[in-house]
Amino acid sequence: MSNSPKRIVIVGASLAGARAAHSVRAAGHDGPLTLIGAEPHLPYDRPPLSKEFLTSEQDPGSLALDPDGAYDEIDVEVMASTFAVGLDTESRTVSIAPAAGGSAETLPFDGLVIATGAAARSLRGTEGIAGVHTLRTLDDSMAIREGLRAGARVAVVGGGFIGSEVAASAVARGCEVTVIEAATAPLMRGLGAEMGARVGALHDDNGAELRLGVGVDGVLGTDRVEAVAMADGSRVPADLVVVGIGVVPNTSWLEGSGLQIDNGVVCDATLCCGPPGIYAVGDVARAPNGWLGPWHGDAPIRVEHWTAAVEHGMAVGRNLIAPDEAQPYHSVPFVWSDQYDARIQIAGHPDADDDVEVLVGSANDGPNTHNRDSSRSFLAGYRRDGRLSGVMALNAIRPFVRFRRLLAGHPTWGEALELAATLN
Ligand code: FAD
Ligand code: NAP
Repeated sequence: MSNSPKRIVIVGASLAGARAAHSVRAAGHDGPLTLIGAEPHLPYDRPPLSKEFLTSEQDPGSLALDPDGAYDEIDVEVMASTFAVGLDTESRTVSIAPAAGGSAETLPFDGLVIATGAAARSLRGTEGIAGVHTLRTLDDSMAIREGLRAGARVAVVGGGFIGSEVAASAVARGCEVTVIEAATAPLMRGLGAEMGARVGALHDDNGAELRLGVGVDGVLGTDRVEAVAMADGSRVPADLVVVGIGVVPNTSWLEGSGLQIDNGVVCDATLCCGPPGIYAVGDVARAPNGWLGPWHGDAPIRVEHWTAAVEHGMAVGRNLIAPDEAQPYHSVPFVWSDQYDARIQIAGHPDADDDVEVLVGSANDGPNTHNRDSSRSFLAGYRRDGRLSGVMALNAIRPFVRFRRLLAGHPTWGEALELAATLN
């Protein structure tokens, strides 16, 4: 612990930052620890924001990541409503400024964790038009919830995770929903065309309209949105538009810092960004994952998943406090999504170019059978270079657990078939 830093600053008070605060203390740091966050709230959980928070009257306080008093208990100074606006790696200071405006001040550090996550991309030209929303924060979700009234016409732009989950929530609220996706299937980049279409069928089955293969030109309406203008000249009338077209990592405050910024903060396998004692975690970090080695070597990859943010946060404390014993990050990627009554789970690194095959269950059962005990339950395997690269399960929780475990050892396709035979 001879190289361990005296004063540690964590920038970004959300999932990865909060987990980092705990792990830094757990690793034995007993000096000052400051957690800086741009939002007015203490760290909260984002996955419910597109799911149960939209379909219920859930209290925002119930989303807190840690119980009341947790940060006092581990002696973390939390600075909410505070932006980091610059980093000087020479003087080892972070410049911070209040969100409400006012002058910047500098905060010295010996150890720094960058956990500033990502921000939702917006649709150009929609700024200032009431009724058009992106969804990243608690405040975004509360504003969308307000508009999800029975009978409201809701257009969702983007058939990724946000779009698919918001569509399901809006249907549950009795809205008339249209999902607009420029590709030929939802979730296509991650799952490929065939599985994207199978998951996309959930929208049809549950009464949401799916408009595929057509781009969006913009929205119509002066003060308030009235419709989405489609690239083919048609219009989708809308009282509320939710735009889910991906995210950009929050790195603008690091411009001029000398850190390597390229679709995130580029890190080594221990999450260190170059200068000693400076690490990045969660959605903003682009770091190698040892598990991806067979396909990606030690190339840094940025992922936008809850589990990775937790794992990074948990790993960084040890690496920061005892850099001589730093461990490389190594984990089977995992993500889940709840849409309508379906639970979708993905593990490994499926790619749209992989061969895909249903290994357990059947993907072809009739419509409207999507509850978790229903016959529409299957697990698909993705094959690359003779190995299982990843799996996607729809309402197949138990087989998924078995395959997720198998993936840890980079199974051959034959081994995947053997496991499947025991589960069918
Ligand atoms: P973030 O959660 O983005 O937090 C970054 C924090 O840093 C924010 O609070 C931000 O305000 C703050 N910040 C940014 N810039 C600055 C600055 N300059 N100064 C100070 N603070 C700053 N993943 C799943 O695996 N499964 C799911 O079902 C799932 N559902 C999701 C649903 C929604 C609606 C959203 C938005 C995401 C979902 N995710 C899900 C993704 C998951 O929530 C993210 O991967 C996770 O939140 C990343 O955590 P993070 O701490 O790295 O970044
Ligand atoms: P996303 O999953 O990257 O999906 C964005 C989708 O929008 C893609 O299908 C993309 O298609 C499409 N798109 C891009 N530009 C478009 C345009 N101009 N018009 C129409 N469609 C367009 O991102 P997201 O759904 O916005 O989610 C944001 C973040 O929240 C991500 O980090 C995501 O992982 C996270 N999140 C995760 C979950 C979950 O894991 N269950 C749930 C909600 C949110 P192309 O791929 O063809 O560009």
